[in-house]
Amino acid sequence: MSARTVIDALDFVRCTSSHHGKITIDKFVRLQDYLADSQGELEYKISGAPDKNGKSIIQVTIKGKINLHCQRCLGGLAYILDLQSTILLAENESELSHLDETGSIDEILVDSDTDVLELIEDEIILSLPISPRHREEECPARELTNSYAIGKNTILQR
Ligand SMILES: [Zn+2]
Repeated sequence: MSARTVIDALDFVRCTSSHHGKITIDKFVRLQDYLADSQGELEYKISGAPDKNGKSIIQVTIKGKINLHCQRCLGGLAYILDLQSTILLAENESELSHLDETGSIDEILVDSDTDVLELIEDEIILSLPISPRHREEECPARELTNSYAIGKNTILQR
């Protein structure tokens, strides 16, 4: 996929369109900061439809495997993405801030030029754990954790 996929968000909803495909992980430029490597690809599906209150909604499904950095040992940590999110389209800035008060649902401003890759990348980044770690028994750094923590405290106290 070399050309970017762009949709007219409102039109996409009005026509209850859907679109699916695969994107190789190296295409997600901002996501790279979170990754140990950029191998593999992700499967996605987006579909638009009005909800029961007539609000414009885009559903995003993303599946695949990425490698994050373990925050304890900084090594690669396989992480399964299996995301389903609902994005509400806001007609303008004031609606956007109003919708934001509930905080329970993602929303974006209506754009006739919505980049599908950007949309998917945002959803992935929002869903990532703040501090991903291997399980205790699987982390190569487990024996170092205590001494590392003591070292850190010493620095902080100075
Ligand atoms: Zn680890």
